[in-house]
Amino acid sequence: MDEFFYNKNIECPCCKITFTTKRVRRRKLRIVGRDSDLNIKYKDVNPLHYLVWICPNCGYSATESEYTELTKDDIKLLQKKYSQNGYKEIMVVYVV
Ligand SMILES: [Zn+2]
Repeated sequence: MDEFFYNKNIECPCCKITFTTKRVRRRKLRIVGRDSDLNIKYKDVNPLHYLVWICPNCGYSATESEYTELTKDDIKLLQKKYSQNGYKEIMVVYVV
């Protein structure tokens, strides 16, 4: 299974630590079909299962394309909520 992934170091935009996450090697993916709702079926690995990156320190989570798009106000809000509640509360920040 390791041939489908590689490691990438990511800096959390919220708490600024660096952590390692798995990324899918897209050239290794094999499409075996499509559902009636156009969902793509893959042979070995579904890249959608690895789309969200989660910081192991503060819990900030977002998709790859949105991971670095936080405003200073978003960061302050997330850091305040995390310091109060840890992972007990799910936060949703919409980036517009
Ligand atoms: Zn973090």
